[in-house]
This record gives sequence, C-alpha cells and structure tokens, in this order.
Amino acid sequence: MAIHDGGCLCGKLRFRVSAPMLESGYCHCRMCQKNSGAPVVAWVTFPAASFSWIAGEPGTYASSAHGRRQFCSGCGSYLVFLSANYPAEVSINTASFDDPGAFAPRMHIFAESRISWFHIADQLPSHTGFGGFHPADARD
Ligand SMILES: [Zn+2]
Ligand SMILES: [Zn+2]
Repeated sequence: MAIHDGGCLCGKLRFRVSAPMLESGYCHCRMCQKNSGAPVVAWVTFPAASFSWIAGEPGTYASSAHGRRQFCSGCGSYLVFLSANYPAEVSINTASFDDPGAFAPRMHIFAESRISWFHIADQLPSHTGFGGFHPADARD
C-alpha cells in the first residue's frame, strides 16, 4: 500500500496518508491565496479515513461556514483543508508532502480568481468554483 508522509516547515507537524489519491489540482481561490501568501495552491485529496497526524497537533482556522484550514502553530505552515460538505475527504497542500512530485495536478479550480499576471500554460481543465471536481458546488 502506498504510504505518503509530509509535514510543516519546522517539522513539529507530521502527517501520513495510506490510500491512493482521489483528485488533485490547483486552487486559485482568494482564501487559498491569502492563507498561503502564494498566487496558487496545489492540493491533493484523499479519503479522510486514510489520513492521520503522526506528530504534533495542528491549529485550526474556520475560514467559512463549512471550511476548516489546519496549520502549524509553530511555523505557520498551512497544510490541510477540510470541508463539512465533504467529510469523507481531506485536502492536503501538495507541496507539504515529502514527495510532492508524486501528485501531479489535473485541473484548475476557482479559475475566476486567478491573479491576472499569473499565466497558465498547461492544457488542464479550468473550472469556475469547484467545477467538475464537486459538481454540486458549481450551482452556488
Ligand atoms: Zn511547523
Ligand atoms: Zn482555494
């Protein structure tokens, strides 16, 4: 079984997933931009049951009515996004893995808030909101 570990910048927080990934992509939403300080966040989702913290306890920020963002209280690294709308999934920031190259992005989401100078040269699908990833969300 594939085991993938990762962690924060300072090393206090470590996590593990033990299942194949479900989906991966880039998120251009303003909350990811603000939380990371980066123009885009690459993410990869896994079954929530396959995820565990193996060192440290994360801080949690409620970024919306349904969203929770988990981070290291020591170094500030943003690592994990959880949604009450999709409790069976965990979304992990791809670059937080020890082997980020294992999870190539497959799409862009929240493309409507892409920063104008940030140009996308790939041919991946580009969605408004969650788009094809979570079709139900495209309606709101
Ligand atoms: Zn840390
Ligand atoms: Zn986002």
